[in-house]
Amino acid sequence: MTIIDDAINGVRHLLNDTAQGIRLFVGINKLLLSPAVQKIRFSAEAVTITGRSYLRLASKMRSGQLHFVMSNRDWDGTGWNGPVVSGSVGAQYWDTIDTVQLLPGFTLSTFLDKATLLHELTHAAIDDMNLPKSRGLHITENESIAYIAHMLYRRYTHSLTGDAFGLPQLRVANEIARNIAASDTLYTVTQDEIRLLRNTIGNRPVYRSIRGKLQVGSGIGGP
Ligand SMILES: [Zn+2]
Repeated sequence: MTIIDDAINGVRHLLNDTAQGIRLFVGINKLLLSPAVQKIRFSAEAVTITGRSYLRLASKMRSGQLHFVMSNRDWDGTGWNGPVVSGSVGAQYWDTIDTVQLLPGFTLSTFLDKATLLHELTHAAIDDMNLPKSRGLHITENESIAYIAHMLYRRYTHSLTGDAFGLPQLRVANEIARNIAASDTLYTVTQDEIRLLRNTIGNRPVYRSIRGKLQVGSGIGGP
């Protein structure tokens, strides 16, 4: 199949107008396969993220197992009829339905847009690992891993401009990303590093209610 066949196949899973859907689909596929994303490689809380994690997502997206939806309302368990999503959110990942939700108007025009989407795709990559419940990955750990990938992407695209540091956890994640990028071998994020990042995330109002909760995921696609 060509990329266009894949795009047409994948776009069936996107709501909204087709031209925008195809543009986004091609953009997301390109992002996942890009040199900067393929260069990502680190281990944190016994979860290892590499370029291969994102290659696997690209293939699940093309085969229609990883879905994309445009909606300004949360998933309520049966449809996109939940509360209206805060205007500060560009995208979010729903591991129960293997779906990346993009907010209407979301595009991939800036490095900030791409890093935001990559953050959500990193949640999808963790979901795809189908970690056992006993593994006990907390939401703040899951978020930490996504923020590290987010800042590695900014570093590898040489786009560490002012808009890369809009939240305190991005500044902490950037320090960790610097150490990962400086390492010749697979870097394991230290306990001190992950603790500081988890605490910074856990203290943000938006994450306060989910502190201490587990989020291991259930795999993408399959039976
Ligand atoms: Zn997140």
